[in-house]
Amino acid sequence: MTTIQLQNLRKEFDDVVAVDGIDLTIEDGEFLVIVGPSGCGKSTTLRLLAGLEQATAGRIGMDDRDVTSTEPKNRNVAMVFQNYALYPHMTGRRNITFGMKSAGAFTDDEIDQRVEDAAETLDITELLERKPEAMSGGERQRIALGRAIVRDPDAFLMDEPLSNLDAKLRIQMRAELTRLHAELQTTTVYVTHDQTEAMTLGERVVVMNDGQIMQVDSPQALYDFPENRFVAEFIGDPAMNMIDVTVEDGTAVHDGFEIPLPDAGTEDGTPETAVAGRSGDRHDAVLGVRPEDFYLAQESPDLGNATFTATVDVTEPLGDSLLIHCSVGDAVFKIQAEPRTALQSGDEIAVAYDPERLHLFDPE
Ligand code: ADP
Repeated sequence: MTTIQLQNLRKEFDDVVAVDGIDLTIEDGEFLVIVGPSGCGKSTTLRLLAGLEQATAGRIGMDDRDVTSTEPKNRNVAMVFQNYALYPHMTGRRNITFGMKSAGAFTDDEIDQRVEDAAETLDITELLERKPEAMSGGERQRIALGRAIVRDPDAFLMDEPLSNLDAKLRIQMRAELTRLHAELQTTTVYVTHDQTEAMTLGERVVVMNDGQIMQVDSPQALYDFPENRFVAEFIGDPAMNMIDVTVEDGTAVHDGFEIPLPDAGTEDGTPETAVAGRSGDRHDAVLGVRPEDFYLAQESPDLGNATFTATVDVTEPLGDSLLIHCSVGDAVFKIQAEPRTALQSGDEIAVAYDPERLHLFDPE
């Protein structure tokens, strides 16, 4: 049972604010992913959790304990790193058990049993007597996971553990980590810059930018209801279209289209759409629409006749869809349409949209 609380956590390195006052509770048994661009403070947050960095301010709690200043070895967490951090001169077995013997907390029999169990869970029995130089990247990472598992820690802290693996192996290891978590149910904090990895692994995902938390939500909620422009653009591939508009009486106006915006919120408790349906005033805003939420009107008669006309610039066949780059006035945007749609540069198309899937953000 381990719940982790971060309260107003802050870390400065000289004049760099790496972590800028974070509040977050990680639930017992949860698989929580922290995602964000390089330099946003993910690793520092994880290292603060591990005790490898000391906080400038704020508090870290594990269950009822205040561990803000606790030595790493007394936190009972296990780190897994991108570079595996294995000792090259030791066998897989020694790498896994290193530190357990000297800690004196386990008998030799207990250690043997734990290694057997971890080796079976990770399917690495045949690697135990090999040295890292005779292992592939994926095998090394399994040994590193084995080292984390045998200690039966209160939490796993994983810093980009799959980044050094090739794309195919990464997908395979992703599925394995999910299986492992289902089996062990250990509280896990996982850091990555890869939004696909975050979305596939995380039960909840924290999006960070500039040392701050932008949003914490389930992967689907992040995708469907991004709370700000940063999250909207960071999550999703191809990225959400962002079009500068003027909002007048609840309508998004641009040279070439007028799109009525739905009212914000619903009365039956379902989540709000991200669109603020403001009336009366006139202000600049950014209309966000995912490429798959724009449609060719001819393919989507059920969306009615609320359409506008755009010009095709180029098309990109993606195999399972066709990405249409188009423009209206000075706005350029993408539509993800059915594959094999016959279109050419310069064609005029009628574009439809689902009013419930529009987002509105403040201009930068
Ligand atoms: P991320 O893991 O998201 O890539 P980091 O947590 O590693 O980001 O870094 C956050 C910021 O803190 C960056 O600007 C980075 O340069 C800075 N930083 C991290 N570690 C140190 C350090 N030991 N000394 C000085 N600056 C650091």
